Amino acid sequence: MPLPVFDVVRGSFLDGEGIRTVIFLQGCPLKCLWCHNPESQSSSPLRKIRYYTTDELHELILRDKSYYQVSNGGVTFSGGEPLLHIQALKDLVKALWEDGVSVAFDTSGYFDCEAFERDLLPHTRDLLYDLKIMDVSAHRQATGQNNDVILQNLRRLAETSVHIRIRIPLIPGITATNENLRAIAQFMKSLGLRNYDLIPYNPSCIDKLKKMGLTPDSSLPEQPMSRAEELQCKEIMDHEFSLTPCR
Ligand code: SF4
Repeated sequence: MPLPVFDVVRGSFLDGEGIRTVIFLQGCPLKCLWCHNPESQSSSPLRKIRYYTTDELHELILRDKSYYQVSNGGVTFSGGEPLLHIQALKDLVKALWEDGVSVAFDTSGYFDCEAFERDLLPHTRDLLYDLKIMDVSAHRQATGQNNDVILQNLRRLAETSVHIRIRIPLIPGITATNENLRAIAQFMKSLGLRNYDLIPYNPSCIDKLKKMGLTPDSSLPEQPMSRAEELQCKEIMDHEFSLTPCR
């Protein structure tokens, strides 16, 4: 079954451990105000989607196998929401696992957990799992979806052996508030999760949205956060809650 891909990055150090090939798959059930990959959404006129067969992706991913081996790296499926494509990924992920390639998913957490556990989890080492906003109505307002599926899936997966790294996008005034970060940290601790990344706000999302003919939400700042503001967020996670930053 062909997979819709809008980007492939080889030699990445950003999306998981070691050297990675990152496959960006099109489609996402969320519509975050700050999305940096709006081309991943099916309605985007910016999208340049190419359909790859699973054999093509398999061959492309194996090209860098020697780099994965020396760096504890592998392949990361990102998006969009890669777990919209569980059925199409199933055989590819199993084949990669059998080839000794470590597989990670960079996910919004909004997916069919039963299908994931059945078809992909046995061959998945890592999840890079977004937690954006704990308050349900603020989450719906900023992303277009409730967070109940995301939180419930995380509760369920925290009890499995998959390695989970929580990713928190720092959006000033939306996700990067003391109250929200404390709520995320408390939730992580309640599940026994320790590892996290803070993803700094990048105002380039504003230009991307304008290019798509959309009006960016007026709450999005035009400037990045200051280093001091970022460190304040990190302080909450590291020192108040003793969590472990991954980068
Ligand atoms: S979950 Fe990620 S890809 Fe989907 S809309 Fe939000 S930021 Fe964009």
